This record gives sequence, C-alpha cells and structure tokens, in this order.
Amino acid sequence: MGLKVVKFGGSSLADAEQFRKVAQIVKADPNRRYVIASAPGKRYAADVKVTDMLYHCYDMVRNHEDITEYYAQISDRYTSIIRDLGLNFDISGELDYIKNAIMHYAGRDFAASRGEYLNSLILAKLLGFDFIDAESVVCFRENGSYDGEKTNEELRQELKNHEYAVIPGFYGVMPNGTIKTFSRGGSDITGSIVARAADAEIYENWTDVSGCLMADPRIVDDPLPIKTITYRELRELSYMGASVLHEDAIFPVRYAGIPINIRNTNDPLAPGTMIVSSTNEYDTERVITGIAGKKGFSVISVEKDMMNSEIGFGRKILDVLEDNNMPFEHLPSGVDTMSVIVATAHLDACRERVIASINKRVQPDSIVIEDGLALLAVVGRGMVKSKGTAARVCSAISDADINIRMIDQGSSELNIIVGVEERDLEKALNAIYSEFVK
Ligand code: ASP
Repeated sequence: MGLKVVKFGGSSLADAEQFRKVAQIVKADPNRRYVIASAPGKRYAADVKVTDMLYHCYDMVRNHEDITEYYAQISDRYTSIIRDLGLNFDISGELDYIKNAIMHYAGRDFAASRGEYLNSLILAKLLGFDFIDAESVVCFRENGSYDGEKTNEELRQELKNHEYAVIPGFYGVMPNGTIKTFSRGGSDITGSIVARAADAEIYENWTDVSGCLMADPRIVDDPLPIKTITYRELRELSYMGASVLHEDAIFPVRYAGIPINIRNTNDPLAPGTMIVSSTNEYDTERVITGIAGKKGFSVISVEKDMMNSEIGFGRKILDVLEDNNMPFEHLPSGVDTMSVIVATAHLDACRERVIASINKRVQPDSIVIEDGLALLAVVGRGMVKSKGTAARVCSAISDADINIRMIDQGSSELNIIVGVEERDLEKALNAIYSEFVK
C-alpha cells in the first residue's frame, strides 16, 4: 500500500476526545504518514470556532479594545485539550507570543492562521510525529495568488526529511515573509497540496459526515451517500451549492490523479465517498450521482424580430455583460429571443446600465428581466448510457405540479440544468430524488 495524506477538519479536532479518535485513526495505518490539521472547530451547535475567535481578536485590537479576557478563552481551548489528553506539553510561551503579536498589529491572516498552527503542534506531540510549519513550505506570490510550482518543489524536498509529520492547514507565506491564508475552509487545499507533493496514493479528508450525499439533507429526507463521484461531477454539484470540500482543493490532486476519500472521524468504519478522475475504474449503477439547487437567479430576455438572421446579435449582448463585469450561467434561446441567465446579485449592481446598453447595442423590440429563478442541477456520469433521463426529470417536475422555466442539457451529458420558480425549488428537488432514487 502506498502513502496516505490525511486531513482532519475542525470538528475532528475540537476537543481532547476528538483528538483521541484522530490519533486512533492515524495509528491504525502506518501508511498515514502526513497529517494536515485544522483549527479547533465547534464542540456543540452554539460553540464558536477558534478561527472565528482569532479574527474577532484582530478586530478588537483594531477597535482599540482590550483582548485579555477574550484571548483567555482561546488559550483555554488549547490548554484544556492538552490537559485532558494528559500530554506533558507547555504551550504557554506560544500562546503569550501570539497574544502579544496580535496586540501589536500582526496581520489579520497571521492571527487567523494561529488556530491551525497551535492545533498542529499539539497533534504532532500526541502522535509523536515531526512538525513542519506550513510557513516554510506553502508559498504565495507577490500578488497574493498561490504559487503551486514553487510550493511543490519546496514541499517535496522537505517531506524527504520526515517519515511522519503534521502540517498545519490553511496558511502559507508571502515572498516578504508575512503569513497569508487561503480562503475559509482552506485546510482542504493544504491537504491536497501535500498529497500531490508526497505522490500519495490517496488523500483522505476526514470530517464529520460520512461522505457526500446525493442531495442536501436539509431539503431531502435522509439522502443516500454517494459511493464514488468524479471530480467533474463534484464541480457541477458544488457549483450549485453542495459543499463538502473547499472548491479549490480538487485541483492539486486532480492533475496528479490522486483520489480523495471523504471520511467520517466519528464513524471511521464507514467507507465514505471516493472522488476520482476516471469513470472507467469506478462504474456507477445509478443514472444520477447527485442533485443540488441554488436560488437567486434572473432571466434577461431580449426579443427582436428576425434576430436569428442578425449576425453578431449574441456577441453584442455578451459584450454588454462583459463590459459590466458580469458572468452568465446559461443562454437558452429561441428564434427571435435570446435569454441570458445571471445571478441576481451580479445584476443588481448594474441593472439600469445593462438595460440601457442592450437597448443601445441591438435595438431590441423588448427587454424583460424576471427575478426569482432557481436553478437545479441533476448530475450523473450514468446519464450518457441511459435514454430518457431528461424526460424523467421533466415528468417528475410536472407531476409535482411545478412549471419548468428553463431546461439545459450539456452535450457532455453530465448534467441537466432546470430553472424553476424559487418557491418550487425544494419540491422539485424532492420530486427528482424520488423519481431516481426511491
Ligand atoms: N480554520 C479555517 C476556517 O475555519 C480553515 C479550515 O478549517 O479549513 O476556515
């Protein structure tokens, strides 16, 4: 068996009991050699994540408030983990140093990153592994973008010196030596980066759910877990709001062909979800892999007689969107109408300007903008092989007495996108789920 890189999320490292589970999981397999740690997450629903507390400390300092009492709560999170684990480890020097740095205006990212830094020191101690500071191996460029090639080289070299190591997630270093973080949830990205540099056989991402589910459990009752999903399918579903992994975490391992296995720290025997690049290895018995939906879209419908024969009509409309820095989602069109579906939030920033420019550029007969559209994506690599999927999607929705406002199927046959009124989204998702799964 090859090397495994394992990442544990904040809820997996929220207190001593969770740390013990993590240690058991890591020690159960000697191939689990590189461990990425998040900051302590919530222990119960109303709890606050340490990362949020650190951001709050930073804000307090900027407002010239005294952080002593508030910071003591952060210190307590770490000292109680150490005490409850019975570890012989004095972390007070680190805690004092960080408090002092935050009080003296160390950067916002520095403050936030200390959550993973401290948790990784503790986890390394508990496991008896080396500690590699992400600050010495994860590199950002001057402009703040992540430098994948430099990181890969430096990390590769560094990993050769450590058979077993813990590496904090979420942050790296700028060329001038200051700390920079990824966006929220970025420890997933660090795990993926380490998996690539280590040529891992697998990247295990341990969290508090047993993998990706076929639908949002807040909408569909008890949805089935997904056994295997391709990177492309996952991208489609995450774009439509399904979230189990940071979006950018896919890229480093995807290009290296390393599968990701989403696992549950609280149910370590469950196989979780495998995220893979190739469909051949992992066939699916289901037509659809998952469904997801998102509200907040608008349709801009532009009508003009003989539009179909007017060369450049579509380009001019898309030019208007580009001039207004507005991405679009879909372009369903008829003979004399062209509809553009965009996020309402984007449109709101330039609604009047867009209408005026379209009028000027193409002199249409009418422009109608309708808000309140929801999009839902039915995603599945199995659709290529089965006939009638679109028909089943449509009849499931119409049997539920829902009007379809738009439908779009990519030629790759990986997904079908359906537009419905926002108020119908939940009902439509349930109808499709029942059609294909129950
Ligand atoms: N601790 C960071 C956050 O809360 C990063 C992470 O957990 O992945 O966003």
